[in-house]
Amino acid sequence: MDKLAELYRELITSVGENPDREGLLKTPTRAARAFEFLMKGYKEDIDKLVNNALFKSDTQELVVVKNIELYSMCEHHLLPFFGKCHVGYIPNGKVLGLSKVARVVDAFGRRLQIQEHLTRQIAETIEKYTGAIGVGVVIEAQHLCMMMRGVEKQNSVMVTSAMLGELHEDPATRAEFLNLIGR
Ligand code: ZN
Repeated sequence: MDKLAELYRELITSVGENPDREGLLKTPTRAARAFEFLMKGYKEDIDKLVNNALFKSDTQELVVVKNIELYSMCEHHLLPFFGKCHVGYIPNGKVLGLSKVARVVDAFGRRLQIQEHLTRQIAETIEKYTGAIGVGVVIEAQHLCMMMRGVEKQNSVMVTSAMLGELHEDPATRAEFLNLIGR
């Protein structure tokens, strides 16, 4: 058994369960594989991911990719948070392939995160690689650490945003972005 599976076995034992009972026999291995999957963003090569998918474009209109499914793990409690991510940017000669925007969201989402950092990392990555005139990212997410424990607030949605360049400086452009994503 590998190190991570070993740790899950200890975790199961430490809450008073018997890791050798039938239903739990393969759980440490399964849980280890699942956790590795959820953390695979650490192994993503952002350079490689993005650079192969930049295309020339003359448009200087706002490009919006909205409702990107988002799954991440809260770094304070190791519990999931999940929701939607909306990305908008004003190209400056280069656009990023549509699916790659979602891949960037996953590359940072599949790590231990706090939502504010995640939002900013996505925005800064889009800005860095496309050279966009402006970038906006909004994340709406529900946190299991709030829903299942602590304050047990089932319906609260946390909203974070990062606005860079034109979307930061120009209220009209920002309003256009927020309008397009339905906020
Ligand atoms: Zn948390």
